[in-house]
Amino acid sequence: MSRYVYVNGRHVPYGQAHVHAEDRGYQFGDAVYEVCEVKVTRLVDETRHLDRLDRSLGELSIAAPMSRASWQRVLREVIRRNRVRDGSLYIQVSRGARPREFLFAPAGTLTPTVVVIARAHNPAALDARAEQGIAIKTVPDTRWERCDIKTVMLLPSSLAKEAAKAEGAKEAWFVDTTGHVTEGASSNAWIVTANGRLVTRPAGHEILRGVTRMTLIDLLRREGLELEERAFTVAEAKAAREAFITSAGNIVMPVVRIDGVPIGNGAPGLLSLRLRAAFHDVAEHALS
Ligand code: PMP
Repeated sequence: MSRYVYVNGRHVPYGQAHVHAEDRGYQFGDAVYEVCEVKVTRLVDETRHLDRLDRSLGELSIAAPMSRASWQRVLREVIRRNRVRDGSLYIQVSRGARPREFLFAPAGTLTPTVVVIARAHNPAALDARAEQGIAIKTVPDTRWERCDIKTVMLLPSSLAKEAAKAEGAKEAWFVDTTGHVTEGASSNAWIVTANGRLVTRPAGHEILRGVTRMTLIDLLRREGLELEERAFTVAEAKAAREAFITSAGNIVMPVVRIDGVPIGNGAPGLLSLRLRAAFHDVAEHALS
């Protein structure tokens, strides 16, 4: 449970954490966000998350609400006040609040709305899930063409996850019009081919450049493992030796079924589990 939420410069009790009714994030989805892992009170891959936040803001011409040093101070304070040992940190920045109008306000006249929430999770529960693996449902990718920007326009992802849940699947994989997997509703998608090569889609505009994806690529280099950055089809995924997803919330999470079809022998892949176990050896652990 979150005790305090950072809202526009103040740490307020959870029940009083409000933003304005005419916030553009609320009316237009005009906001970006980040989700970071907190491990033993430390932020995992803080630099990459804040770099991506800067990029998302820049792509939408939303003013940077504070300096890097201020972000670091605020994030640490939110973790501390909420006494989070292991869990997640959510950052959201919208363009700001003003009377409803499609056009942005003139540059420099709106103050971005900033919210930071920290929440504790039970890491043992996530590890237990990884021992079982998760099921995936594939759905058509109905999102816009700038999925590289981490905006809060998450309705397609929300609908996809609902459709997945209805079939007992934990995550949805979006599929483009050519039958290739783009990414998960809130994760990147990976397979391991029959000859042991790791495959994930190149980081173009159709997917989010996951921080976990980037750090996992560092790990693959360290381990001397072969990576093919290319799109793969649903059929190829179903025939793969292993499959998994990556995200800050899941790290490496084995996939054991896609649309009801077992992957490999239907149990979490050994390489997937090995990469999961080694991930934090290469990730950045920012001091809190
Ligand atoms: N793709 C999408 C659509 C996501 O929402 C996420 C989770 N933020 C990811 C990929 C994984 O990104 P990360 O590894 O930075 O959590």
